[in-house]
Amino acid sequence: MAGSVPIHTGLGRGTGNFWIDTGLVVLDQGLEEGEHSIDAIVQWLVDRITQKRGNTGLYYDQSTGQLREYEKTNWAYPINLFIKVAGDAGEKVTIGGETYPTQPPTFQLKLDLSKKPAFCDICSEHGPVTDAKMWMFPFLVDPSKFANFYPGLRRGTKLCARCALAGLAAYLGWLWKAQGRDALHFFIFHSDLEEMKRLHRSVLGPLRAQGGRGGNAPVAFSGPYLHETTLGLLLELFSHARSSDMLDEEGRAALAEFLGATVVTSLPVTLYAISGKPAQAFNMTDLREFSRLHDLFQLYERWLEAVSEVDKNPHGRVVTVFRQFQAQQGKSWETLWRDRIAWSVLSFSDPFPFIEQFLYEVRVREESPRPLVRGTLEVFEQYGQEVMGMDEQFQRTLAGFGHNLGTAAQEHNEMGLLYELRNAKNPEAFYRVLNDAQFRLETTIPEALLRIEKGERIAGVPWVRVKTILAIYAMNAFLRKAGNQSSPSQGREEGQE
Ligand SMILES: [Zn+2]
Repeated sequence: MAGSVPIHTGLGRGTGNFWIDTGLVVLDQGLEEGEHSIDAIVQWLVDRITQKRGNTGLYYDQSTGQLREYEKTNWAYPINLFIKVAGDAGEKVTIGGETYPTQPPTFQLKLDLSKKPAFCDICSEHGPVTDAKMWMFPFLVDPSKFANFYPGLRRGTKLCARCALAGLAAYLGWLWKAQGRDALHFFIFHSDLEEMKRLHRSVLGPLRAQGGRGGNAPVAFSGPYLHETTLGLLLELFSHARSSDMLDEEGRAALAEFLGATVVTSLPVTLYAISGKPAQAFNMTDLREFSRLHDLFQLYERWLEAVSEVDKNPHGRVVTVFRQFQAQQGKSWETLWRDRIAWSVLSFSDPFPFIEQFLYEVRVREESPRPLVRGTLEVFEQYGQEVMGMDEQFQRTLAGFGHNLGTAAQEHNEMGLLYELRNAKNPEAFYRVLNDAQFRLETTIPEALLRIEKGERIAGVPWVRVKTILAIYAMNAFLRKAGNQSSPSQGREEGQE
């Protein structure tokens, strides 16, 4: 009997597959180390991935000849989007025109191990194997969705019992976040198995949110898109590294270590983020890997420093800065800009064009337009220096000139000039607008902006980036001044949500 071959739990060797390795950690944490029968492990898992639905049904009890109530059970959400095996309700009987099961449906999964030994496609062990079925191992073998991630895997993938059980156990180790019917995100960490175990035990376990259809991933904010939600998760995690009201000292220290805050040589942790739509089944739209968490955490610490003058709660301020890039559309919020800015930050590329777009196409068109929340410029100035190599002195020049330009444009009622600046398509057009501004607004253009260098650069920066940053400063100053005039006591700079 294949089912009676005992499985030795304990971490052992990792497989390098993030889904299976997550499951190995779950098994190791949940089961006592030692030998367990496969059936016992399956039962242990099924007990944890099914849940009572909170309503009852009737079954026909053949021994007493009576109808009896039972509590309905199902695979827990969102696992039910992957496992489509129905409960076994026994024979059916018809009484008074109604059909009843003859037992409460029992939820079972069978591994069906082969008698003929073969090599496991995941860990290469030789022994009894099972066909990996798509409904059990969603992130492993669905070839249409994951072909580019696991090019070697096909529908006929064979798994040994240990890998198959780990595949099932991984459902208990993921972090997930649902956005109603719009989106479902999953997050899975991966690195050395022992390290991942420590991460799960000391950090992710205590931070995991409990219950509900909204998910268990702790996030500072989230939306239908992958990158914004990933950034929301990371900001929340980062906030617990220096001090935490949810982690004990060991957990906090472990997190700081994982993020490279204390031990430089700590193994890098990789975060996999998967996005899709919850429907009858999960429809994956995106899968990304983020491996530069150390660098991101360093950036986050710079941001805290940069906004500490503005706010006594620097973390809350940084969250507010990123959260603001959304617009109300009817009853819901469109967060496309936030996702693009989050994408830029997570991939260490240029967020300024998206901030510019947000200011000129969203904020200005609001009923009472408001500038960016306080701290925004500080956060992105820091980003410009750290990631894009901007010179601090030149940034200050741009900030000062942009501020004068925007304030003067507001005084002269010349918003159009700012749009001309924003729309400049080449250095000539850019200089033409500055020239116009000089005459119409009586502003003085700083020397540093007038020297265009080889490769159409200004002070070493591509001209279009200079234009974009200037357009952001100017419009922000314009909106701030306008806001101060309409409600001098209050200044409409804070988010209104
Ligand atoms: Zn295996």
